[in-house]
Amino acid sequence: MKRAPESIRVTGVPGLPLIREGDDLPGLILARIDLEDGDIICIASSVYSKARGYTRNLSDIAVSGRASRIAGRTGEDPRFIQAVLDASQEVLLEYPFVLSEVSCGHIGVRAGVDQSNVEDDTVILLPPDPMAAAQDVRDRVKELSGKEVRVIITDTCGRSFRRGQTGHAIGWSGMTAIRDFRGDTDLFGHVLKITEEAVVDELAGMANFVMGESHAGIPVVVIHGCPEWKGHDNLYFNPDEDLFRKMLTGQGSGK
Ligand code: GDP
Ligand code: MN
Ligand code: MN
Repeated sequence: MKRAPESIRVTGVPGLPLIREGDDLPGLILARIDLEDGDIICIASSVYSKARGYTRNLSDIAVSGRASRIAGRTGEDPRFIQAVLDASQEVLLEYPFVLSEVSCGHIGVRAGVDQSNVEDDTVILLPPDPMAAAQDVRDRVKELSGKEVRVIITDTCGRSFRRGQTGHAIGWSGMTAIRDFRGDTDLFGHVLKITEEAVVDELAGMANFVMGESHAGIPVVVIHGCPEWKGHDNLYFNPDEDLFRKMLTGQGSGK
């Protein structure tokens, strides 16, 4: 008989404190949970950013004409919109919400800038280089414990076509973003031509479910027993193949 696949276990790390700038997240995690080689640590980008000081005080932000114009339409705090614009590499949409690309290639609503789970006057930015952030956590865990883990930095993001936000991976280390099924055969021997599975987002989704969005206080989740996969890291469309981006920026109209 064929052996059943191992089950995958998804565990929230209990008892983490409110994270402040300078905190050693890997150290705090290792003090609370036993890790094994191959485990995948999923960390909410919001706490990675808090630990690294990627936050801004609204009271320090000078508002541009563009930010006040957008804020006037969306009904948001102009200083918050300014923080969003400052975090944006390219703005794809201003209204009904700012949608923009940030420096790492991720496209998100309000550039992923958060006002929740932080003090009133503060906003949390996405880590500027989330791939390096994932690598950094991985290296630090190895240094402290000798364990070879894999790491995903997550954020909660909206999607096209469907209501509801889900966890997305914005940085990863020790795995490829995509499991590539192209060239594989289905149950009937047909060769798969298109299917690339965004495994990092599926795992981020599971982790995000355990984290929740409010006051659970679980910003770190460990996935145990997840097999490895083969693929590549080209998670983001190139601008010339991204139909939705072309439509939003008007480059897709006409021809
Ligand atoms: P995001 O998805 O990265 O924007 O992060 P969220 O704000 O949605 O928070 C995800 C999870 O982490 C939720 O369970 C929050 O309660 C929790 N969380 C956020 N900040 C902290 C913190 O500083 N300490 C702890 N222990 N939990 C936090
Ligand atoms: Mn967020
Ligand atoms: Mn979230």
